[in-house]
Amino acid sequence: EPDPTLRPEPRPEDADRALRPQVLDDFIGQAEARANLKIFIESARKRGEAMDHALFYGPPGLGKTTLAQIMARELGVNFRMTSGPVLAKAGDLAAILTNLERNDVLFIDEIHRLNPVVEEVLYPAMEDFELDLVIGEGPAARTVRIELQPFTLVGATTRLGLLTTPLRDRFGIPTRLQFYTVEELHEIVTRGANLMGVPADDGGAREIAKRARGTPRIAGRLLRRVVDFAVVEGDGRITQAIADNALTRLGVDHLGLDGADRRYLSMIAENFGGGPVGVETMCAALSESRDALEEVIEPFLLQQGLIQRSPRGRVLTAKSWSHLGLPMPQQGQG
Ligand code: ADP
Repeated sequence: EPDPTLRPEPRPEDADRALRPQVLDDFIGQAEARANLKIFIESARKRGEAMDHALFYGPPGLGKTTLAQIMARELGVNFRMTSGPVLAKAGDLAAILTNLERNDVLFIDEIHRLNPVVEEVLYPAMEDFELDLVIGEGPAARTVRIELQPFTLVGATTRLGLLTTPLRDRFGIPTRLQFYTVEELHEIVTRGANLMGVPADDGGAREIAKRARGTPRIAGRLLRRVVDFAVVEGDGRITQAIADNALTRLGVDHLGLDGADRRYLSMIAENFGGGPVGVETMCAALSESRDALEEVIEPFLLQQGLIQRSPRGRVLTAKSWSHLGLPMPQQGQG
């Protein structure tokens, strides 16, 4: 019977697993993280020890899970995957930890959402490869110590700020993943299109890359949709015209913004005079969760210089007004 706290199935948008790079040399972008990991992997292999615990943080879809899987493969160990919210009880984590083999990689996605009780169990496990389990209840309760195999914990989070300090401090290798450049996404799209048997020419790959919000997961999703158009309405090749037409019909604009992004910008422009407006007010106005705004929508808008954070809230930039096709209000008037 499968353990429900392990998540063997890939997420639906990752259905096309062929696109996932399998070795570090096929992983495009994140040059600094990759160069460092290469050394740590090599060193752990040579010493025959578990690699130090690693924390990957950054917006969704940048390759945290992929990198963790590659690490396990290159280390020649098993990859086990779970996530913060599914580990409800200390026993759930204990069951996974006691089943690890020597030097395995355990990946915990959304590690900032760990239950504090479960997190307590993790500390001695990470530090000394030991579990302190409480057996029984009330006066009869006693603690037993269980030795674990050495293992590497890879934590992933979109919200570094929500990690407790003791947990954060136990990762020897904190690694921030960055948005990808258009050049890097161009390479990822070209490779993916070839793997799907629907090649993209330079202009076609570039059009998708430019509109992928700096994110490989989005590049893969857009590529799959453009492939549909290329197969049905084109001659099975991705050109710039096919990509532009398909993406426009999908509501992805020239900066790669989708409906949710544009709704966010228009809201500040039309209802709040361009800001500043606080994040709580934006959540209420858009009926979005704070997580969705802060983890998914805002990082890319900030990186693109479409919004700025000020002490009093979010403010639209001149680039944003011009992208929306609206006149920027004059400062200091009215
Ligand atoms: P995260 O865990 O950060 O949310 P994933 O590792 O699940 O992101 O990656 C999302 C998708 O993007 C996967 O389908 C993966 O194949 C693809 N991907 C991520 N990084 C790269 C990369 N550097 N090169 C090619 N594809 C990538």
